Amino acid sequence: KQKNAHQLEFLQAVEEIFLSLVPVFEKHPEYIKHNILSRIVEPDRIISFRITWQDDQNNVQVNRGYRVQFNNVVGPYKGGLRFHPTVNESIMKFLAFEQIFKNSLTGLPIGGGKGGSDFDPKGKSDSEIMRFCQAFMTELYRHIGPDVDVPAGDIGVGGREIGYLYGQYKRIRGAYEAGVLTGKQPRYGGSLARKEATGYGLIYFVEQMLQDAKLSFLNKTVVVSGSGNVAIYAIEKAQHFGAKVVACSDSNGYIYDPDGIDLKLVKEIKEVKGDRIKTYVDYRSNATYTEGCNNIWTIPCDIALPCATQNEIDGEAARTLLANGVKVVAEGANMPSNLEAINIFLDNGVLFGPAKAANAGGVAVSALEMAQNSGRNYWSFNEVDEKLHGIMKSIYLESKTAAENYGHPGNLVVGSNIAGFVKVANGMISEGVY
Ligand code: NDP
Repeated sequence: KQKNAHQLEFLQAVEEIFLSLVPVFEKHPEYIKHNILSRIVEPDRIISFRITWQDDQNNVQVNRGYRVQFNNVVGPYKGGLRFHPTVNESIMKFLAFEQIFKNSLTGLPIGGGKGGSDFDPKGKSDSEIMRFCQAFMTELYRHIGPDVDVPAGDIGVGGREIGYLYGQYKRIRGAYEAGVLTGKQPRYGGSLARKEATGYGLIYFVEQMLQDAKLSFLNKTVVVSGSGNVAIYAIEKAQHFGAKVVACSDSNGYIYDPDGIDLKLVKEIKEVKGDRIKTYVDYRSNATYTEGCNNIWTIPCDIALPCATQNEIDGEAARTLLANGVKVVAEGANMPSNLEAINIFLDNGVLFGPAKAANAGGVAVSALEMAQNSGRNYWSFNEVDEKLHGIMKSIYLESKTAAENYGHPGNLVVGSNIAGFVKVANGMISEGVY
């Protein structure tokens, strides 16, 4: 704690995992002997670098870039790149740390990493985004590779940015190494269903939670935060399963549509026009817009799906959701609920799907994209979607079983942390001390 005193998000992520691991250490003293905890919280390396680029007015701009290569016991470092002004070392480390266990849970050969920059893509022209991505990759390329470290997208990094990053990597390396980045557009090496994977995967995970509780999505009221990649495809699949999604948001505020969100309109606003979510109410007479995001959790719902960013549900929001009768909370974003909120859900019988299990669908399909790139072939949308569905079912089952085996039945936080951790810890022991 002293070493990382100012890294609050990282400490929060470590605390959540370590609290879950108490029963593991009681059963497995070998993890203590091998000092696994002290080793696993220290990243293999953190790369931090300057990015210099020119804006449209020819001003020279400087940003900071990061790549945290946390653990590669299970496979090459793997995790997204985030471009957002809030990016700092603590956020990069928390995301990379979480990614180790999430990636291990998928059952696929991928280790944990994360990266990004404090660059703010909002309001930037397409040329500025391209020049920034090229400058970013001009430094990053020397640290990554299909068998070394495979970045993908995250907040502020979608198909367009991955395209510019990949183009620059190829230019520098002079080789066609498609497996160096995932989230590429399908026409040049990307996987079909990658764009949909995190959102769809979240809904497949919740489907399992509901089935076990003898419930279903049919006619359930759902609130989703965010209106980015994860949120949009979570809404799409929830609607497909018969749910009524009534709200979503962006970083300025949220919309409430009592008739159910018109997803085609949301896609037009966010994906095509790149506009703010508030413009939704210009087209839908019964919909309302509220400035500020926090109060989105005051909207009564059966299922709450936070899909925007970290720490968006605190104790107060959790108590409000509970008072309004929420039955399921599942995390599309990374660490959207703080520890107090998680405990409120778990202590009051709310079915809670933690991020590292519930949102693992994106990275799982990224690993499938790597497999397609190595095999130099393409799978159909349905083939990938079916594999995704199977992976989410097995993540749910593994988390549920670990929770039962370690004396916390129904607690998927404990279950997913343990199931993800044990594989990595065993790998570390078998590879010796280094
Ligand atoms: P996007 O950039 O596509 O969308 C993010 C959404 O969240 C936008 O609507 C954005 O609003 C909103 N948002 C961002 N920051 C804040 C904030 N500080 N307060 C309120 N709202 C905010 O990102 P993704 O959908 O890809 O990622 C969302 C979350 O899911 C992140 O936590 C990410 O780490 C996680 N995740 C993503 C995966 C993926 O495959 N993409 C995989 C697994 C997890 P605005 O438009 O105003 O910026």
